[in-house]
Amino acid sequence: MQVIKTISKIKAQIQKLKIKDKTIGFIPTMGALHQGHISLIKQSVCKNDITVCSIFVNPIQFNDKNDYQKYPNTLKKDLELLKIHGCDIVFTPEKAEMYPEIPNEKYDFGYLESCMEGKFRPNHFNGVAIVVNRLFEIIQPDYAYFGKKDYQQLAIIKALVKQKKHQIEIVPCEIVREPDGLAMSSRNMRLSEIERSEALLISKTLFDIKKSFNDKNINQWKQLIEEKFANSSILKLEYIEFADSETLEVINNAETNKNIAVFIAAYAGNIRLIDNIVLPLQ
Ligand code: AMP
Repeated sequence: MQVIKTISKIKAQIQKLKIKDKTIGFIPTMGALHQGHISLIKQSVCKNDITVCSIFVNPIQFNDKNDYQKYPNTLKKDLELLKIHGCDIVFTPEKAEMYPEIPNEKYDFGYLESCMEGKFRPNHFNGVAIVVNRLFEIIQPDYAYFGKKDYQQLAIIKALVKQKKHQIEIVPCEIVREPDGLAMSSRNMRLSEIERSEALLISKTLFDIKKSFNDKNINQWKQLIEEKFANSSILKLEYIEFADSETLEVINNAETNKNIAVFIAAYAGNIRLIDNIVLPLQ
């Protein structure tokens, strides 16, 4: 497995592979890898001749400076994991390599960037789009793998590929969870024991809604869940939203022939967690 830090070196390497007609699968990450990331790596390894993973904690997608500064860094362990699972190339650029100048591109994703995560994390998706677009231009993958854990991000990336006319197939990957249900996240390692156990309310809520959706209307569900979170001294619910799983448009009435996805963002102490679930067609 090669570890490459500069754009010029990785571009030269990619060029050599393209000449040999090798298919390239790409997984962009911010490191602190867990089995969620590894599930993306595994899918790429199965499908492509070459798998490239990037590890770059992208400063311009953090709206909270503290969250950026405290983002976990476990590079040595990450590289070991990637090697074991058959990754071929890891791209680990420094900040100055990715951004020699302050980037000023401005994307327009319309409604997709103004709801849910977009509403609560101003400029977040613009920062994501800038970095992913740069990485796509550098790596030029055939396939790029993204987790449904970041469901709205996945929708933004699909829109980015369309806008920029990238010849890349985006592969959505299922959410990997801890045995007790908590969605895996690099931020989980920052949770205290009590925060970790209270955070389970997030996935438990989503599973309950999936199981018993027809027992209540959407407003009743929202009210019940807001009350449940209000009872916890550790958790703070930022939003619960029911939305069209394709367009992410808010759904207030369950009598719809659209697939509904349920989204939750909540703080456990200072750690912001997100999760979602897609309900079976009603
Ligand atoms: P991150 O390092 O958080 O930027 O995540 C890199 C990629 O891994 C993104 O496409 C995420 O959606 C995906 N990912 C993160 N956590 C999970 C998970 N629990 N299950 C599936 N994919 C995940």
